[in-house]
Order: sequence, then structure tokens, then C-alpha cells
Amino acid sequence: MDREHYTKRSHKFPIEELTREAKAALKERGVTLQDIAKIVYQLQSAYVEELELETCMYHVTKVLEKREVVHAILTGIAIDKMVEEDRFPEPINTIIKHDEGLFGIDEILPLSIINLYGSIGLTNFGYLDKEKIGIIRELDRTKDNTVNTFLDDLIAAVAAAAASRLAHSV
Ligand code: MG
Repeated sequence: MDREHYTKRSHKFPIEELTREAKAALKERGVTLQDIAKIVYQLQSAYVEELELETCMYHVTKVLEKREVVHAILTGIAIDKMVEEDRFPEPINTIIKHDEGLFGIDEILPLSIINLYGSIGLTNFGYLDKEKIGIIRELDRTKDNTVNTFLDDLIAAVAAAAASRLAHSV
């Protein structure tokens, strides 16, 4: 994104641009909105009669229209990528790269997403952290040099937030 272009005009990035950036960043890391919607479906299909994947997609899309959500996604993915390229100082580069137990910041950052959508979001986030379903499990199993320490928790948070949004809409 051309930062100067926007700061000259308004000192702020328009939310539409930010959302586009977040979607592009997710896609670049191998995650589609469909992947996230499938998790939402798994979380909510037992509670919402005749739930359709399309409805889940809608709520995922709405979650991604919030600035706080985009900020968390772009921050987390930037950290993952920089750690992947060994551009963080030690010892924190190695700690994040190996997602060491008790690092925990990867679970704290996405709380800024969860906090927007009430307690159903929080309980679902905890559930997904333990159960790791769908794309979250796939990311967890990635064994090459890719670092997804923050990404998996961000996905869980977006899915949990969308599930909460959906639950409150019916
Ligand atoms: Mg993680």
C-alpha cells in the first residue's frame, strides 16, 4: 500500500483498503475466507438450524471490516514473516520461531479481535486453541520453514468472533 498517498490526504488508511490488505495477507499465508467460514460452520451448525456456509462467510467478512481486527491480523502476520526471515533480535526470534510453551503473546494479540464480540467469542477461542480444527490444524502441522506462530491464533480469533457475531444475529 502506498502510505504517503494516504497520509497526505487523510492521515488514515480507509477501512476498505485495510480490509483488502488483511485479506491479501491471509491469502499469501495460505488462508482463504472459505477456510475460516468452514470453522465457523463447525462451531455453530449445532446451534443454528439450517445454517449455510454462505452465512458463515458473511459474518467472517463483517469481522474483517473492523479496524482492530485488521490491525491484529497485519501485526501478527508481519511478526511471523519477519521471524521466518530471522529479522527479529535474539533470543525472541528463536522463541517465536519454535512457538515455545509459555510464549503466549500469540494468544494475547488476538484478544483484541475477540474482545469486540462478547463472551461467546472468548469461549470459542479457547475451544479452538485446544481442538485446532480445519485450517488451524493444517497450519499447526506445517513442517517447512514457515512460521505460523501468530497466524493460527489469529484465524481462531476471527472464526470465534464470526461465530459469536452469528450467534447474536439469530
Ligand atoms: Mg500460536
